Amino acid sequence: MKFCPSCASPLSPRELEGHTRLVCSSETCGYVFYDNPAPVVAALIEHGETVLLVRNKGWPEKWYGLVSGFLEKGESPEQGVLREVKEEVGLKGEIVSFIGAYPFHEMNQIILAYHVRGHGEIVVGDEIAGVKAVPPDKLRPWPLGTGQAVRDWLAARHGLGPTVA
Ligand SMILES: [Zn+2]
Repeated sequence: MKFCPSCASPLSPRELEGHTRLVCSSETCGYVFYDNPAPVVAALIEHGETVLLVRNKGWPEKWYGLVSGFLEKGESPEQGVLREVKEEVGLKGEIVSFIGAYPFHEMNQIILAYHVRGHGEIVVGDEIAGVKAVPPDKLRPWPLGTGQAVRDWLAARHGLGPTVA
């Protein structure tokens, strides 16, 4: 962000409430670029006896993650996650439970992750390069992004609960 989306004046860094923010340089505008994290919904999809992982087009060859995407304006997280399930793997989804909310600082996102049961035949969506169906006992969490939801889902499945104090 270099220019104000409201009046097109240059943005410049300024100290505000203990943070360095990009603030509009126009004296009459007052726009502040807060750079808040964007909400992303993610689905841990159980389909038959497997969990589905997807690789988005443009990702490195070995990267797989949960089905995920940005919320659309006016959508609830539940509606958004079921829409993403339909778009990315062609399944009719049914929400089983909310797994948790996870920060993804590297991407400036907050991930809202759901356990979803998927029904029907897999149809790979336009944005998807590959789908892997992994039996839950072969599923291994990864440290970033949607991997945190996989970790908590696996822990809950083994009766440990999402957090171990
Ligand atoms: Zn402005």
